[in-house]
Amino acid sequence: MTAEIQAPRMEACDRCRATGAEPGSGSTTCPTCNGRGQILYQQSFLSVRRTCHTCNGSGQIVRNPCRQCHGQGYRQVVRKLKVNIPAGVDDGNRLRLSQEGQPGANGGPAGDLYVVLKVKEHAFYERRGNDLHCTIPVNVGQAALGADIEVPTLEEPYRLKIPEGTQNGAQFRLRHLGVPPVNGGGRGDIFVHIEVQVPSKLTREQRKLLEQLRDTLPVENQPAEKSLLGKVRDYFM
Ligand SMILES: [Zn+2]
Ligand SMILES: [Zn+2]
Repeated sequence: MTAEIQAPRMEACDRCRATGAEPGSGSTTCPTCNGRGQILYQQSFLSVRRTCHTCNGSGQIVRNPCRQCHGQGYRQVVRKLKVNIPAGVDDGNRLRLSQEGQPGANGGPAGDLYVVLKVKEHAFYERRGNDLHCTIPVNVGQAALGADIEVPTLEEPYRLKIPEGTQNGAQFRLRHLGVPPVNGGGRGDIFVHIEVQVPSKLTREQRKLLEQLRDTLPVENQPAEKSLLGKVRDYFM
């Protein structure tokens, strides 16, 4: 896909041609360093030369600062750039835009602009590497009898057949429907986690049906053996 970004950068001021001086006003010798660009500091036996900070070492100061750039010689412009985002990029991936960075000194070529990508949180998919995970709720009837459910993917929806007796927490793996790899390798998978929802509100009829169902089901209220706890069946599609 293509994204439009706003990239600020400094560009040479066209009014003063990067001199910082109002056109026609010229410059004058720096009074701090008398045009030498450096200042000599005497410290006991040592003498140290430092760059003059009034003129930044140029020896000249601007008589009238340019009105457009306030004497900076450069001004910030925000440019709109179209950036090609390859499929499968992840948080922290960097894209390099050649010569879209800050201009070089004295008219040299501009540097490069690096765009660091941040992937937006998805409403229901969680990304782990190139795999995508989502949780899909099913009702008790669908879990017990099996059902056809529709799983949204990056392309068209996938019809997932969940079998009779699907337990809460069951996991279905849809191979190669995850995130395409950016640097070669295989495409990731989609993992569908099933969440069986027990109804919390019942109509009179539903209550009657569930009561009938309850009376036909075996009653097994012994604590489960530890090895069975948390046992989740995985399905591979
Ligand atoms: Zn200017
Ligand atoms: Zn100076």
